[in-house]
Amino acid sequence: MTQGTHEVTNQSEPWADVNLLGTHQALQDALRFHGERADDPALTALGAEAGSAALQEQARLANLHKPVLHTHDRFGRRIDEVEFHPSYHTLMQRALHHGLHGTPWSGGPGSHVRRAAGLMVFTELEPSVLCPVTMTYAVTPALRANPALHAEWSGPLARTAYDARPLPGAHKTSVTLGMGMTEKQGGSDVRANTTRAEYDSDTPWGPLYRLTGHKWFFSAPMCDAHLVLAQAEAGLSCFFVPRMLPDGTRNSVAIQRLKDKLGNQANASAEVEFDRTAGWLLGEAGRGIPQILSMGALTRLDCALSSAGLMHQALSLALHHTSQRRAFGKPLDQHPLMRNVLADLALESEAAVALALRVARAVDRTEHGQDPHGHEGVMRRVLTPVAKFWICKRGSHFAQEAMECLGGNGVMARVYREMPLNSIWEGAGNIMALDLLRALRQGPVAQALAHEAAPARGAHAALDRLLDSVLLRVDAGVEETQARRLARDLALCMQAALLRQHGGEAVFEAFCASRLAGDAHDAFGQLPPGVDLEAVLGRARPVSS
Ligand SMILES: Cc1cc2nc3c(=O)[nH]c(=O)nc-3n(C[C@H](O)[C@H](O)[C@H](O)COP(=O)(O)OP(=O)(O)OC[C@H]3O[C@@H](n4cnc5c(N)ncnc54)[C@H](O)[C@@H]3O)c2cc1C
Repeated sequence: MTQGTHEVTNQSEPWADVNLLGTHQALQDALRFHGERADDPALTALGAEAGSAALQEQARLANLHKPVLHTHDRFGRRIDEVEFHPSYHTLMQRALHHGLHGTPWSGGPGSHVRRAAGLMVFTELEPSVLCPVTMTYAVTPALRANPALHAEWSGPLARTAYDARPLPGAHKTSVTLGMGMTEKQGGSDVRANTTRAEYDSDTPWGPLYRLTGHKWFFSAPMCDAHLVLAQAEAGLSCFFVPRMLPDGTRNSVAIQRLKDKLGNQANASAEVEFDRTAGWLLGEAGRGIPQILSMGALTRLDCALSSAGLMHQALSLALHHTSQRRAFGKPLDQHPLMRNVLADLALESEAAVALALRVARAVDRTEHGQDPHGHEGVMRRVLTPVAKFWICKRGSHFAQEAMECLGGNGVMARVYREMPLNSIWEGAGNIMALDLLRALRQGPVAQALAHEAAPARGAHAALDRLLDSVLLRVDAGVEETQARRLARDLALCMQAALLRQHGGEAVFEAFCASRLAGDAHDAFGQLPPGVDLEAVLGRARPVSS
């Protein structure tokens, strides 16, 4: 195009109006492996919508116009409202329409796997709104501990018509849920929480307490309720804190300010104070940590899924751009060294998709009673922290390298800003690695891991070696200083085993050669000689759907 002073040439076209499932071969093959249709109609429709230029524009606007806090109305009354740009509500509406929040809990077998794939796809469009969507998905196992609350809230939790009105849960078409654990003096160490809970009375929702204190992070404060940790007489306990009380008045949740965040900017995260705030006991008093962790385990899964989705978005952008941009006489993706970088990114992306979806399968099978030998239960417990640790840890590194493929063109800024958050929230890297050690102490795991990896045994010498070493360490236990190393090695073994089964020969070989054998994988683009770059790239290249 001529602009008077110069002609704009040699820039790529926008990556838009593509089907994000139809162009994602690795995800399709993983879905098939777990017994789902690669062309599932609902997922295909979501893929088309999430890749559309129209919704991309909504995502841009939702991030440009950040949420605004209104603590008071013009007359000085407290309202604690967050105003979002209409585009934020459009995105929320679409995410709920596609059932990415509570619907799998009432769906049949496979519903958690399909939802996980949908979440990955939607992440490529916009990850911020998925914060409340994820928490809404994750709350159900914890909520079941209070049958009265579960009976009243599980219906609206699964409904797909988004309803942003500040009304009591019973009056809404659908509801969203959040969680408040982190305080200033103790984040990972929630035992240091000082928010107090005093018994008030018995009610139809069970024991009502009054909460006094604060939360340093309270994401998505416009959710209809949050699960909150507070110290009761019996110890740290979990409470259900609705935004609006059943009589239609506001609960006392005073928003102090909104966080100034690196990423996740379309979504609000708040600092709040409680002043005799109504909270209903969820589960046993004094057992708040395991209670809220039944929610936290699922939000951790979503961190892994989201990072895998963001990786694939970054990969697609890098592949798309380098196929259109020319340098030194030919398209960037025809330069041998760039091909090495792109293929290496493709391997990482596919491995992330494979591992994250495997954990979702474990959730699905255990929730649907399809785990007669207990194998899926062990995989769910052990692989959740492993996937959250490794996939999120690789995410920032990945985004940086993918961004570099575009040179100084900042198309990928949002992906880059989002990646570190997934690694920190819901338990940072060390906390995940330590959680793996905790999981290993809960029962014999080595046999289950050996069984899981059996289909790949003998397929690559480096995998066999690493697997033997991992199983020895899992059996004997490792000291804390080695927890990250074990989490990484376990992730690599599981990823390799999965790629063997649904990634194709070239991908499996290249993954083992670059991550399991030889040098440490310290920077992308160092795939060794002999790797079939064309086969890896051919699989990753987004063919138009
Ligand atoms: C954008 C965003 C949104 C968030 N939203 C919410 C929310 O909605 N609700 C909520 O409750 N929280 C939320 N959080 C808080 C988040 O979960 C915490 O930031 C996180 O758990 C870490 O806690 P911290 O910030 O207090 O850091 P700390 O607990 O002080 O941890 C700092 C570092 O020390 C490490 N560490 C801690 N203990 C150990 C140990 N025993 N051994 C070795 N290393 C250790 C951690 O891994 C971490 O790297 C959010 C955070 C972010 C960034």
